[in-house]
Amino acid sequence: MKKVEVVIVGSIGLDTIETPFGKAENVLGGSAAYASFASSFFAKTGIVSIIGKDFPQKNLDFFEEHGIGIEGIEKSAKGTFHWEGKYGFDVNIAQTIKTELNSLADFNPQLPESYRNADFLFLGNFDPEKQLQVLSQMKKRPKLVVSDTMNFYISSKPEKVLEVVKTADIALMNDAEARQLFKTPNLVKAAKKILELDSEFAIIKKGEHGCLLFSKKTHFAAPGYPLENIIDPTGCGDSFAGSLIGYLAKTKNLNEKNFRKAIITASTIASFNAEDFSLNRLSRLKKTEIKNRITEFKKITKF
Ligand code: AMP
Repeated sequence: MKKVEVVIVGSIGLDTIETPFGKAENVLGGSAAYASFASSFFAKTGIVSIIGKDFPQKNLDFFEEHGIGIEGIEKSAKGTFHWEGKYGFDVNIAQTIKTELNSLADFNPQLPESYRNADFLFLGNFDPEKQLQVLSQMKKRPKLVVSDTMNFYISSKPEKVLEVVKTADIALMNDAEARQLFKTPNLVKAAKKILELDSEFAIIKKGEHGCLLFSKKTHFAAPGYPLENIIDPTGCGDSFAGSLIGYLAKTKNLNEKNFRKAIITASTIASFNAEDFSLNRLSRLKKTEIKNRITEFKKITKF
């Protein structure tokens, strides 16, 4: 079996989601679920996460059928992490109705031996103190460590989140999270603060409006794909993150030009994810569809 190139650590959960276009109950979700699936389009990917005794076997089979490593998924005697959220017509704003951490509260990530040499590591959404512990389990510093965070952790542990930003090579956040963490309304200033924390690049996601890439010398703005058919934006941030790291692992080039390509590829995968609930759209996504949408992206950004 092929060696795992990208290790994705984060939550796996059962989500209940309501959008203006429908409702889905107890469907497969969580940061690691979306990120690993997105990464697996490009590179051999393994998940490190925790599930509860009520987690349906069919969801584990689903990962395996798509070639995603599940040996790092721990089974707890407690219930599975459950998130309930709602969106209005502004799909950039997720309203959390309920967060039941359940087994995720006890998550102490243990990387399988064979994952500890991986070159690409994604620290998805979970406790920032534990995100930091994961790095100490790696046998060598990975070539690229990408981290993510969210308001839940910025509110409760801002100092630890800042430590994660300093430790990771790329700390992903969306516009609202960047404003909250750096206490500024201005995204350029927030990006500068990320760069001051030893990052070569700062990436700030702007939901359906695209994303910004900053380095000390330049910046790049990727538009959002103008989607006509949005059903559920849950997991778009994680799909973006997973495809970004997966693409970089596949192409093995960390210069700015390739980061720009990675960002457009990641925006493409994230846009597909919004076309259905849970991982439904990504699981039927064809390589040709990805290629065609990237070509369209090129067209809409050329002038
Ligand atoms: P996003 O990509 O930001 O839309 O992330 C959506 C996913 O985050 C959902 O599938 C949730 O299960 C997961 N999630 C929500 N709250 C938390 C939390 N506090 N910790 C970890 N994961 C979470």
